[in-house]
Order: sequence, then structure tokens, then C-alpha cells
Amino acid sequence: MLGLMQDWPLLCHKILDHAATYHPKRSIVSRSVEGPIVATNYRDVRSRALRLAKRLDKDGIKLGDRVGTLAWNTWRHLEAWYGIMGVGAIYHTLNPRLFPEQIAEIVNHAEDRVMMTDLTFMPLLEKLAGKLPTIERYVVLTDAAHMPATKLKNAVPYEEWIGEVDDDFRWASFDENTAAGMCYTSGTTGGPKGVLYSHRSNVLHSMIAALPDAMGLSSRDVIMPVVPMFHANCWGIALTAPMTGAALVMPGAKLDGPSVYELLNEHKVSITAAVPTVWLMLLQHLEANKGELPYLERVIIGGSACPRAMIKAFQDSYDVQVIHAWGMTEMSPLGSLGSIKPEYAHLTGEAQLDIQVKQGHPPFGVEMKITDDAGREQPWDGKTFGRLKVRGPAIASSYFKGEGGQILDEHGFFDTGDVATLDEHGYMHITDRSKDVIKSGGEWISSIELENLAVGHPDVAEAAVIGVRHPKWDERPLLIIVPKKDRRIAKDDLLKFMEGKIAKWWMPDDVVFVNEIPHTATGKIQKITLREQFRDYRLPTAAE
Ligand code: ADP
Repeated sequence: MLGLMQDWPLLCHKILDHAATYHPKRSIVSRSVEGPIVATNYRDVRSRALRLAKRLDKDGIKLGDRVGTLAWNTWRHLEAWYGIMGVGAIYHTLNPRLFPEQIAEIVNHAEDRVMMTDLTFMPLLEKLAGKLPTIERYVVLTDAAHMPATKLKNAVPYEEWIGEVDDDFRWASFDENTAAGMCYTSGTTGGPKGVLYSHRSNVLHSMIAALPDAMGLSSRDVIMPVVPMFHANCWGIALTAPMTGAALVMPGAKLDGPSVYELLNEHKVSITAAVPTVWLMLLQHLEANKGELPYLERVIIGGSACPRAMIKAFQDSYDVQVIHAWGMTEMSPLGSLGSIKPEYAHLTGEAQLDIQVKQGHPPFGVEMKITDDAGREQPWDGKTFGRLKVRGPAIASSYFKGEGGQILDEHGFFDTGDVATLDEHGYMHITDRSKDVIKSGGEWISSIELENLAVGHPDVAEAAVIGVRHPKWDERPLLIIVPKKDRRIAKDDLLKFMEGKIAKWWMPDDVVFVNEIPHTATGKIQKITLREQFRDYRLPTAAE
């Protein structure tokens, strides 16, 4: 027997309708790419998104078409997302930090028909234009006064383009499983892999993200997503904020310490989110200028592991609660968040930090398990680590055009490629990427734990650990160190520093000193390049 409830498809534009109806005047403040601060609200953003949808419709953009965006977080980019989704087309965010050839490859793979771009990225697109045959029109997110001369095909300034029509338009209507958005993983291996969000998954993810133990958003919040809309679906914020009626502050192109600081205080931001490198810049600025954060209540930190010292600095020096979060593009992206459950509420100081450096516990809508290589589930004891696998309604079931083939196990779980522990209360702790974990004599050594330990040495700027071939143990850890400027470190001193803090058999077999460690477009250590670089490295222990 079926339930007798209304059929109300979960469509993303209903989120903006809700915001415009019940929170019409809630502010959306942006640092525009042209420079000035621009203030608008949900009612006006909806009206302009409707115009955009009508204008796209006039150009023949229809259900299932892809529209690329190369843009910072501003009200115009927000309008673009909703306008695109509102005609049943798919917003396709592109990460401008990728290599230009990668951007071209991704646009061509997605077959984007229109490209909406900020002024910032016009030179990049002008260089690539000959290689982007599917793009029929470039819409530059600016007005006629700021529009430079360009040879980009059918290029128009956004304001004039949407100004050609009014907002008398009805959102398209379709099945809630229709594709809404698209984001490619920065995929360090193989070809580009597109994740295709649906209207349903985006709406459900927004509800999940809003939950009190997740972002805990309400209409009383002012949220600033410093995390770009092109990074993993903006961690859901572009949808969760209007759903809850939270006010938005959009930082535009300036993500440096002073610029972020200014927006946080000027606009009374209560909650914000970004990767650790952004917060490192803010904390340095705060420290150098004796700054304060009187309005900020919570900061969500994820994308890579949040250092313990960062959590401590926010909480102890600025009275801002840190929520360490983990996720991935394939998960829309939230997978777990580190709010404190009652079981840990009694903890303070270092013991509390021990919990907060973990990546948190999954909200409703994310199931998690850890398994060994044979797929056997591992215990939730906070010690045993295994491959982290996830299942849920906002998690990818396959990639666009079937790239990478079948990605779920026989129980429908997606292998995240991360290695983690789970404790008895469901708190997950990432110990490695499965490609990076060092397999020594059948046992696993966490490269991340060794790196974290090594960077604790006062003369170390950056550390990377990779597995190097060993005749007896298969692989043993090699520690690669970038010393701080003008500092010299002796190998033995460093190893002595690590002694006693890890199991004896985890100790790196050798240490090498380099000037630089390679990074990916999203700022993560590029282990593939390092492994290639040290492929023939002979460990001193190899002769034993
Ligand atoms: P990108 O590489 O473009 O940032 P994703 O955001 O999809 O793409 O990256 C997801 C991966 O980032 C995760 O599988 C995990 O390895 C890593 N990651 C994300 N958040 C954290 C975190 N809090 N701690 C450690 N690793 C993290």
C-alpha cells in the first residue's frame, strides 16, 4: 500500500521560491569582482534568476543541457545556478585553479553549451577558446560599463543580456531525479570524472547540511561561504542558506586574510566555511593586527585535515567553535562533521581536541563502514583502520558518461579512497588515502600521521611520507622534508624527535631534504609525482 501524501517533487528552484517568499529581504552581500560591495536580497535574486532562465530558454538552452560557470562567489553566480537549474539545465562549476588544458578537457567532456565567466577568467578563456568547440556563447558576469573588448564567441555582458527579458517566467517542471549540477573531481589519476547531482540529491543534501549537528543553520545566521562555489558544490551552502533563510555574505575574488577579516566583522558573519589554508591566512592576519572576531560563532573547516593548532587558536583565542568536516565532491559533499555529542560533552582541553581533530560523525543520510582489502567490516574501536565506504541519497552512484565504470560494491557502498578509523560513537578519523597508505609486511602505516608528527618539529616547514619499495617488507616509509627558511635539520635529530611518539616499526627508514613539495590545484600534496620522483630510491635498510 502506498502512502497518501502529495507528490511534491524536490526541485532546487523551490528552495529559492521559499527564500523569496518567507525571507524576501534577507540580505545577500557580495564583494563584486569589479570591486565595490553589492547588497541584494532573496526576492531580487529570484527575480533575476527567473530572467536568466527566460533568457537561456530564448537561446534554446533546454532540459539536460550543460552551462559552465567559471566564477567566484557573488550574487550573480548564485543567480546563475538557480536560473540554469530553473530551465532544467545543469550548472557545471569549473575550478579555475586547474591547468588550462584540464579545464578545456572537462568543458569538452561535459559538452557545455554556454560559459558564464567572471572578468577574472576572460584571458584564460580567450587562450582556450579555439579548443572549446561546444561553447555557443560566453556570458560575462558584469555590466556593459565594465565589459572589455573581446573576441570570445557571442560574448555579452550579463546585466544587459538578462535585461533583454522580464521575470515573467515559470520554472520548468520535471522529475526530481533530473540532473541539476555537475562538478568534476580534481582526479589525480585517469581521465576527468564528472559528478552529476540531481535536484532531489541537492534538496536532500541541503536539509542534511542544515541539521543542528551539521551546519545548524537558521534564519538568524549570516553565513559566508569562503569555500568557492566551484569547490565541491560549495559544500551545499548555496542551497542550504536560502532553504533556511540565512543571510549570505559572498567574498568574491578576495580570499586573503585582511579581506576575509573585513567581511566577517563588517557584515556580522555568524558562521563561515573554508579549507585550512584560508584560515591560516586569517589567523596570521588576526595575530599580526591584534584582531578580534566578536560576531563569528562557528567555523567549518574541511577539504583537508584541520590542524590541531588551528582548532585551538580559533576556540581559545577568539572564542569561535570549530566544526571539522570531511566530505568529497562525490558526496555533494558533506560526509561527516565534528559537533560534540553528549558522550564527549564532559571533555575539555587536550582531550576535547583529541576528538575535534577527528573528522566527525555522519549526519542522517550518510551510512559509513570501514573494511579491509577483502571487504570485511572492521571494528569501531578508534584504532583499526580500513577503507572508508559510504552510502546515501546524495552520494554518486556512477560518474558522468560512465567514466571509471562500476563504482559501488555489492552492497551499494562507494569506496571513498580514504582510509579511516571509526570509534564507538561513530566519530571517523582519516588516517590516509588508500593509495598513499604504506603497506609494510602486510600491515598498514599511516603516511598522514607521520607527516603530522614531522611538521611538529620546529624547523620543519612541510613534510610528506611515501612508501618506497623494500625487498623484505614490500614498502617502507620515506620521509621527505622541506626545512623552514634558513634552518638546517639533521636526519638523526628529526628521527629522535619522532621516537616514542609512534610504534617503532612505523619509523621512516630514511629522510630526504628538498626545497619544495609538489601540490595539486586544490593545495594537496601530490603524492603521485613524489612516488615517481623517488621510484628508484634505495633505502639504507634495503640491503639488510
Ligand atoms: P578536491 O581534491 O578537489 O578537494 P574533494 O573535495 O572531492 O576534491 O576531495 C575529497 C578528499 O579530500 C577526501 O576524499 C579526503 O581525502 C580529503 N578530505 C576532505 N576533507 C578532509 C578532512 N577534513 N580531513 C582530511 N582529508 C579530507
